[in-house]
Amino acid sequence: MKNFDIVIVGAGISGAVLAERYAAIGKKVLIIEKRDHIAGNCYDFVDENGILTSQYGAHLFHTNDGGVWEYVNRFSEWYPWQHRVIARVDGKTVPIPVNITTVNILFNKNFTKEAEMQQWLAENRIPFDEPRNGEEAVLNKVGEVLYEKMFRHYTKKQWDKYPAELHASVLDRIPVRENFDDRYFSDRYQALPKAGYTKLFEKMLSNPNIMVLLNTDYFEVEDQLGDYDKLFYTGPIDRFFNFRKKLKEKLEYRSINFVTEHLDQEYFQENSVVNYPGEEVEYTRIVEYKHFGNQQSAKTSIVKEYTVDHGEPYYPVPNDKNQEIYAKYKAEADKLTDVYFVGRLANYKYFNMDQAFRNALDLFLQLERRDTVRVANS
Ligand SMILES: Cc1cc2nc3c(=O)[nH]c(=O)nc-3n(C[C@H](O)[C@H](O)[C@H](O)COP(=O)(O)OP(=O)(O)OC[C@H]3O[C@@H](n4cnc5c(N)ncnc54)[C@H](O)[C@@H]3O)c2cc1C
Repeated sequence: MKNFDIVIVGAGISGAVLAERYAAIGKKVLIIEKRDHIAGNCYDFVDENGILTSQYGAHLFHTNDGGVWEYVNRFSEWYPWQHRVIARVDGKTVPIPVNITTVNILFNKNFTKEAEMQQWLAENRIPFDEPRNGEEAVLNKVGEVLYEKMFRHYTKKQWDKYPAELHASVLDRIPVRENFDDRYFSDRYQALPKAGYTKLFEKMLSNPNIMVLLNTDYFEVEDQLGDYDKLFYTGPIDRFFNFRKKLKEKLEYRSINFVTEHLDQEYFQENSVVNYPGEEVEYTRIVEYKHFGNQQSAKTSIVKEYTVDHGEPYYPVPNDKNQEIYAKYKAEADKLTDVYFVGRLANYKYFNMDQAFRNALDLFLQLERRDTVRVANS
């Protein structure tokens, strides 16, 4: 007997969107989630100091996709949040991405005009028509001095590889501003959910057609699931095939060790996120969550992030070797019928939240060729 029409592995963005969409057209949906909570890496909670905190690193929503923006507004109210990041470099505090202020502070300049910044970049950058790796990509954008101060060691801490060992694409997209714009993102919609991401997911999954099974690893229960029409898998693609002993090669991922400190003081730092691009400390950044939404508390909590090799898989490592291995898994995945690999781990690709929403929405549209309320890509 069929208990469910749709089985979804993972209650992150990808799983939740597909569950919400299928439930809306009357399908019975089972979500299997190995963690003890929904919301995937967007999960947040109120900590012992009363501060809304993200368990898996600060999550800033930003998009130019009007359809995704309309969709996420169905499940939460949002408040505008223009994210800003500062960095401690050579004992100085500078804005990130690099802009006129960054160069003025680090190199004792007094530029006031875009033309002066353009001139400085032109004098410093080392042009590459087609950068072959991350190092060439950064040199091509900002030149050697900024590369050394802000990118070389940070990349090593983040990826355990120097920029020269990574695809150009990883660093090719770093924004460099020729003006004073110190916003981290320049997308049209930049906001945070008023009550947090977990509440947004609760609403997405509130349809009675959806059942969520927490603390359950799909591979331990798959034999007991009986018949269903479609399986959506949002976990790591290599694990799916390793489990079936089809392929063994390991895909590399980077993980993060989040080290929390609760402090008996009102504030620790002047901004939500402070990056540490240099070698002097091992962590990449410190996040003080109470800055998001200007939360009030007599105490504060900070989280230091150390990027590490082992642990939960967060970031696919983009180099040729991993892409070759992924291609083999993808070829296996394409042979399967009614099994769909969705999201960042299953596609071995870094997705921002809006891209994860868009991919899952598009997959639903593609498979069902209908939608109760069409979510257009705009
Ligand atoms: C540290 C960090 C910071 C980020 N910051 C931002 C940001 O500021 N802005 C932004 O736009 N994006 C950000 N992102 C990206 C964002 O987290 C992703 O876009 C989003 O989480 C993708 O959703 P997903 O559903 O594909 O994957 P996930 O959220 O990873 O969900 C997959 C789920 O599947 C579950 N699962 C896996 N295997 C199994 C199994 N065998 N059985 C049962 N369950 C399983 C996992 O436990 C997980 O809950 C960040 C990501 C990280 C790692």
